Amino acid sequence: MTGFTESVERQQLRSAVADLGKRYGGEWFLRKARGGEKTAELWDEAGKLGYLGVNVPEEYGGGGGNIGDLAAVAEELAAAGCGLLLMVVSPAICATIITRFGTDDQKQTWLPRFADGSLRMAFAITEPDAGSNSHEITTTARRDGDEWVLNGRKVFISGVDEAAAVMVVGRTTDAKTGKLRPALFIVPIGTPGFEYQPIEMDIVSPDKQFMLFLDDVRLPADALVGSQDAALLQLFAGLNPERIMAASFAIGMGRYALAKGVEYAKTRTVWNAPIGAHQGVAHPLAEAKIQLELAKVMTQKAAALYDAGDDVAAGEAANMAKYAAAEASVKAVDTAVQVHGGNGLTAEYGLGALVSAARVNRIAPVSREMILNYVAQNTLGLPKSY
Ligand SMILES: Cc1cc2nc3c(=O)[nH]c(=O)nc-3n(C[C@H](O)[C@H](O)[C@H](O)COP(=O)(O)OP(=O)(O)OC[C@H]3O[C@@H](n4cnc5c(N)ncnc54)[C@H](O)[C@@H]3O)c2cc1C
Repeated sequence: MTGFTESVERQQLRSAVADLGKRYGGEWFLRKARGGEKTAELWDEAGKLGYLGVNVPEEYGGGGGNIGDLAAVAEELAAAGCGLLLMVVSPAICATIITRFGTDDQKQTWLPRFADGSLRMAFAITEPDAGSNSHEITTTARRDGDEWVLNGRKVFISGVDEAAAVMVVGRTTDAKTGKLRPALFIVPIGTPGFEYQPIEMDIVSPDKQFMLFLDDVRLPADALVGSQDAALLQLFAGLNPERIMAASFAIGMGRYALAKGVEYAKTRTVWNAPIGAHQGVAHPLAEAKIQLELAKVMTQKAAALYDAGDDVAAGEAANMAKYAAAEASVKAVDTAVQVHGGNGLTAEYGLGALVSAARVNRIAPVSREMILNYVAQNTLGLPKSY
């Protein structure tokens, strides 16, 4: 970005991705989700066109771009009604961590497959007992000769049934202090001792959430991502892109709903003018537009800071962007439903399905309360209550 205008390349990328999204669209996406099918055709096509690997370095076959580019891809697909949830984890968290911290072998093994989208990697940090308090995770890796042995439970992990592997956040015992320290492991699907079960969710989406069971899962030494000493740094390096991507995904979803609301407000007439002529209908749509634009500017700022290498400033901006984007998407979807009257909740218009999907943006990958805690303590210097 220069000033407040995205580069010509970024704008061209947005427009090409938007064209791809329009070819699939919201109706196609909902049909797949309701039929219990996946959206693999779109994922594969986006992958072949290089959109999913836009942030992977060129030497591994990627686009050599940055998180701002990947976020633009996620936003435009969501704005076309066919957002790919796994973009938030696979290319954004997992590929970023491996690019920044992986060993040469790990980069050679995984990055070319992120580059063309032929790989989906899920990301598992949340645990049933720890929840938002990820300091309390108990998935533990013990060294046994040349192997790691992993034990633990994870919950709400997206897309495990579509993934070739899961990046699992666990802990190892520090040889010097005996204290547990975070460590990241790549666990291929099918590894003995690793099982997963779907969680029934009231969300209309092709991408499902799973419980993971890791019982004496034996992994080779090189399943540990990068170095044991850099694990915390690695985790933070992955979480900023995750928040930027979640924000972009939410903004795209909000844009999709708003466009539907505006279109309906222009065409539906029940007195003697389109309902959009009534300010009670027009103003909430205008407010939704303003909130989405504000969230987008903050998301672009977060991406620009991250891409400039300022992880600390990017952390604050990414949290604020994610908060703003979640609120904006919930408001846009709710407004679009209201503008549609009864049609807002018919299956035909597909807006009811967006209500719970948008609501997720307030909870995952980090809840609005935890962001407010972060801003209260880190930005405002207020005392911590928990
Ligand atoms: C659709 C979906 C997909 C997901 N995908 C993934 C995934 O791929 N990988 C993954 O690892 N996780 C995933 N998650 C998990 C998600 O990140 C967690 O649900 C989220 O971090 C909240 O944790 P929790 O559900 O345990 O809530 P809890 O931690 O139990 O919190 C419950 C409520 O209490 C509030 N709360 C907790 N502590 C505080 C506090 N100190 N101050 C104020 N309020 C507080 C929370 O904000 C929340 O509102 C997904 C979740 C969903 C719904």
